[in-house]
Amino acid sequence: MITLQQYWRGRDKTHGHLLTPELRANAQRTVDVANELLPLAQAGGVMLTPGQWGMVRSGWRPPDINAGTKGASATSLHMQCLALDAEDPYGLLAAWCFANWRTVLKDLGLWMEHPTATPTWCHVQLRAQGSFAKTGLRYFYP
Ligand SMILES: [Zn+2]
Repeated sequence: MITLQQYWRGRDKTHGHLLTPELRANAQRTVDVANELLPLAQAGGVMLTPGQWGMVRSGWRPPDINAGTKGASATSLHMQCLALDAEDPYGLLAAWCFANWRTVLKDLGLWMEHPTATPTWCHVQLRAQGSFAKTGLRYFYP
């Protein structure tokens, strides 16, 4: 289970003045849907690595944190608490999500970054972005 605490990664303390009710609600939705996704992946054969797999690598990124994050998009949904990076050291979760984007991701209302862009984590988000919004695909290249 991913917790809100893990999603904040202490930033609710360091950047609490930026946390609006909307951001808090978004974060709860993101954590809730991640907690639906992870058991499905496990049931689908993705092996759990305790302490690593499924843990939050990146949750909320306040603008200054996002700006200092290597490779982060300037419009990243991490800033709106609508994205989550799960630890995925062997790419198994991302591969499974990608193999099931037409069903699982669609059912859960998720989009993901293509696994080739996320070798040791899995990025999922609750909204489509940019030109990919019109494609109907549930994955995109950052
Ligand atoms: Zn991400």
